[in-house]
Amino acid sequence: MAAYQFFKQVNKNFDRAAGYLEIPKGLLSQIKACNSTYHVSFPLRRDDGSVEVLHGWRSAHSTHKMPTKGGIRYALEVNEDEVTALAALMTYKCAVVSVPFGGAKGGIRINPSQYSAAEIERVTRRFTFELIKKNFIGPGLDVPAPDYGSSSREMAWILDTYQSMVDSLDSEGCVTGKPIEQGGISGRTEATGRGIYFGLREACDNKEDMEALGLTTGLEGKKVIVQGLGNVGYYAAKYLRDAGAIIIGVAEVHGGIYEEKGVDIEKLRDHLRETGSIREYSEGRFIEESAGMLEMECDILIPAALENQITAENAGRVNARIIGEGANGPLSSEADAILLEKNILIVPDIYLNAGGVTVSYFEWIKNLSHIRFGRMDRRYEENAMSRLLNAIEGLTGEQFSDDDFKRIGKGPDERDIVDSGLEDTMVMAYHMLHETAGKFQTDLRTAAYISAIKKVAVSYEQMGIFP
Ligand code: NAD
Repeated sequence: MAAYQFFKQVNKNFDRAAGYLEIPKGLLSQIKACNSTYHVSFPLRRDDGSVEVLHGWRSAHSTHKMPTKGGIRYALEVNEDEVTALAALMTYKCAVVSVPFGGAKGGIRINPSQYSAAEIERVTRRFTFELIKKNFIGPGLDVPAPDYGSSSREMAWILDTYQSMVDSLDSEGCVTGKPIEQGGISGRTEATGRGIYFGLREACDNKEDMEALGLTTGLEGKKVIVQGLGNVGYYAAKYLRDAGAIIIGVAEVHGGIYEEKGVDIEKLRDHLRETGSIREYSEGRFIEESAGMLEMECDILIPAALENQITAENAGRVNARIIGEGANGPLSSEADAILLEKNILIVPDIYLNAGGVTVSYFEWIKNLSHIRFGRMDRRYEENAMSRLLNAIEGLTGEQFSDDDFKRIGKGPDERDIVDSGLEDTMVMAYHMLHETAGKFQTDLRTAAYISAIKKVAVSYEQMGIFP
């Protein structure tokens, strides 16, 4: 079988959208091209004293806005094509949700589960050191974040390595997705999954679209299957479940769990964390061949693991009405065409999983401004609201309870502000995509690319490169 060419797949989506636009060919080629990729190999001394050579990549796809931004992936499948494709997706994603960054992505070819925490720390610090040497990291240059196989723990090591080598007032903004104590922001861990929930909520609230799919409006009672119970899959499932959807299936690497009444995702995640697998989980039906769960009947299917999961081979058997792309590139372009033909609503990755980079943007702003959101005005707003409630009491004779004062008069803390900014971003972007799809009589993915290409093109034109 020919090797999967992820960047080519992304460019197929790009070309389809570009066909709707009158943009000069040269400018389209500039938008599509990857600006630079750095491939580094470096040694790791393992805990047993042996030495291994590891490979890492960082691609800065587009520098039309600075800094560039994108996660760092730790996985055995990492290669240059994958990192480049993911960097390109970041460019388009940031443009769709109007986050002012160029796209980037990094990856280290390693299976983190086979290494101790001390080894992963050495790998992370060395990779960061290599990026610093080549000017591939910095608050105004390129800002990594967590991705598949990495979390706030690795981001803290990146920050510490950067700060120990670079003396700069804004150094905290060199990486996002950090622990709160190290300059992170409330709500970043959950952000991608929460954004997926906001996006699917908007999609399911559209009466006409739901009728066309033979579904009722709203998330209540919708049957959902999630592939991948990691950061993205878990939080997407959690917020959908909290809104009334039923998580009937979870597919993981070593099998899946099916439970018509709803999987207890907290319990399943704890089991996965403790044992490294969902085998021997005591509830629901265990499904040995978890890839088959992508073909089970459900209302919403959320692939939230890796790219290229639904291809020409299995797309014809997919039995969902809506696909919400939690992962980057989970559908091949051939699968995309088959699924659209089957009248399945596809909510695309470059919109749906943009919650992570949106809240990373908020974190970066917080780091550069050196102040937590809400610090200056929370108490002021509370006092203003109290004055208003007192005035209403005076005018109406109505008495508010202490509880009313607390509930209505609560000023926003950082979490409230982040959540409100995330919701606003996801809601506005969904309606913009929906409108674009209607205007061009096309699907949401093509609409998302149309919108992204137009925005990046305007940036280049403003730079005077393409008068
Ligand atoms: P993660 O490492 O936290 O979790 C991934 C999960 O998927 C793991 O539990 C893993 O066991 C499981 N998995 C791997 N292969 C699988 C398979 N074949 N079948 C079923 N399960 C499988 O990673 P994540 O951060 O949740 O990222 C998942 C996807 O979302 C990636 O495509 C990533 O690029 C994308 N993404 C992540 C973020 C973020 O903020 N973390 C933001 C946007 C997009």
